[in-house]
Amino acid sequence: MLHEFFESEKIECYAVLSYSDVREINTRLREGCGFEPKSVIIYLLPYYAGATENLSVYAASLDYHIVIRGISERLGGYLSDIFPKASYRGFGDHSPIDECSAALSAGLGIRGDNGLIINEKYGSYVFIGDMITDIEPDRLGAVQPKDIGECHHCGACRAACPTGILRGEGCDCLSAITQRKGELTENEAALMKKINTVWGCDICQSICPYNREPQITPIEFFHRERIPCLSSDILDTMGKEEFTSRAFAWRGRKTVERNLKLLGY
Ligand code: SF4
Ligand code: SF4
Repeated sequence: MLHEFFESEKIECYAVLSYSDVREINTRLREGCGFEPKSVIIYLLPYYAGATENLSVYAASLDYHIVIRGISERLGGYLSDIFPKASYRGFGDHSPIDECSAALSAGLGIRGDNGLIINEKYGSYVFIGDMITDIEPDRLGAVQPKDIGECHHCGACRAACPTGILRGEGCDCLSAITQRKGELTENEAALMKKINTVWGCDICQSICPYNREPQITPIEFFHRERIPCLSSDILDTMGKEEFTSRAFAWRGRKTVERNLKLLGY
């Protein structure tokens, strides 16, 4: 019964799970919903809209939390029309449940050795959104999980990881380094320059055979106002509202300015 809704959103990968089958990781967040959840609607948002120069692919588009908020509102309205007494709450990223495990157990993807969920069509360029409801899963038309194999364990992501964290060498992920406030160490700064990244790191994704020919997302939101190469000039033209609509905004403007200066953009 959710087919019509997700088709209208151009979302192909979704499933319904029983709440009792998912791993709850934030009880307070669930309690804040004010109802006893019985089901989880979980979906993937493919976001690849083209290559980038100095930003992680996800950060070139507008902040995906915005699109998840919109989907949650529309999905809530859709459910209310069919189940007028139902309660629901949408999440994305900050959720009461372990979204990645839920998506994996729903058969929406496999877990790669790079720690990311990999979908058979969109590779790992996907975000996860979910909605918890007090509707019995059977009434939402539970989708049977399917077996889509497993990561090839080819080792390419581990070998290519510039900090070595995927090889268990105890360093930070470069993506986290680019997002750190304050002073960077000489090594960190040198690494960012070498990889040419102002924000994020896609190396363990781009090297993965599942991402060899990334499928362009059909979701229009991720194509809108894209910035494949960020510069100080572009940043300077952004007002507060525009800046906060960006995925790279959450650590503040100073952090992005520092990174741009470091790389000479
Ligand atoms: S994002 Fe970059 S630094 Fe982080 S694990 Fe992947 S390759 Fe390594
Ligand atoms: S690069 Fe190879 S080992 Fe790494 S996630 Fe992709 S298939 Fe798995």
